[in-house]
Amino acid sequence: MKTLSDFRSDTVTRPTDEMRRAMAEAEVGDDVLGDDPTVQKLEIQAASIMGKEAGLFVPSGTMGNSIGVKMWTQELQEVIVEEKCHIYNMESTHMTFISRVTPRPLPSKRGVLDPEMVRSNIRPASVQTPRTSLICLENTHNNWGGAVIPIETFKEIRRIADEYGLKVHLDGARIFNASQASGVPVKEYAKYCDSVMFCLSKGLSSPVGSMLVSDRATIDYARRLRKALGGGMRQAGVLAACGLISLAKMVDRLKEDHARARRLAEAIYDLPGITLDPAEVETNIIIFYFNHPKITIPELLARLKEKGILALGVFGGVRLVAHKDVDDEDVNRAIKAFQEILAS
Ligand SMILES: *Cc1c(COP(=O)(O)O)cnc(C)c1O
Repeated sequence: MKTLSDFRSDTVTRPTDEMRRAMAEAEVGDDVLGDDPTVQKLEIQAASIMGKEAGLFVPSGTMGNSIGVKMWTQELQEVIVEEKCHIYNMESTHMTFISRVTPRPLPSKRGVLDPEMVRSNIRPASVQTPRTSLICLENTHNNWGGAVIPIETFKEIRRIADEYGLKVHLDGARIFNASQASGVPVKEYAKYCDSVMFCLSKGLSSPVGSMLVSDRATIDYARRLRKALGGGMRQAGVLAACGLISLAKMVDRLKEDHARARRLAEAIYDLPGITLDPAEVETNIIIFYFNHPKITIPELLARLKEKGILALGVFGGVRLVAHKDVDDEDVNRAIKAFQEILAS
């Protein structure tokens, strides 16, 4: 057995053997000069899958979202976000640092914004206040335990955005997980958004990289922003080659991750200290709240690690993520570890 079963995140997935071969064989050029054929192929492929005109390969999801916010905003403007979203909480304040806009965080039901609340938080034009210009959505919602945002929410938010002349950016880091769980095609979610960022480096197992897709003129501008942020990459075809495999081969298997996460959740939810509704584990992420009379969260994590299980402490709880590099045996091992630590 491997020494550690790593459930901290789907970002720990290693490139597949096929990806390693593709990296070795990738046709490359200088992407800043615009002639890396493999990057171009990936950008066209990503745009086509999302039903958009153009795509941009970026080094990280954070850079994709940074550019996504920057390309739709100007100073003195405000962006509506869900209060636990990744863009607002986990991307080192690029909204203020790079775009110089203020975020307007709104509460939600498990990541699902109430469209009427969004409407009532759009600022009326005034000399005193920022001007609302962008709404950011996230699907699946990471900090809400991989919750799937319903397509109806997208439709209603789009309607409101159009009414007020706002743009909609989707942080779709795990949009393929959402699609696999809901049966709604990724294109359908993307249809209601002006731009979409998604990650190749999470469940889709690429070593590095995310995509930003939108209309052609906006992506031309995004390309300049990427260069300004230091994200222009030269022989990036070696990485794009992995991205092409992610899109072609790694999407359908996300279902296996969802099944494993659900099985793990069902086996541990009623152990002492754990608060978790296994029915809320819709995709590959489990977040449970932990409050035990004798064991703190850091102690739980340490004892899990002694038994070969890596998990992550978050917001008063613990996060476990299923992905390509944890199989049924790893799940069994995690279940056994939790039982040994908590059931005694
Ligand atoms: C991981 C993640 C990102 C961006 O991730 P990087 O680590 O910068 O690639 C953005 N949004 C969500 C919801 C994420 O989970």
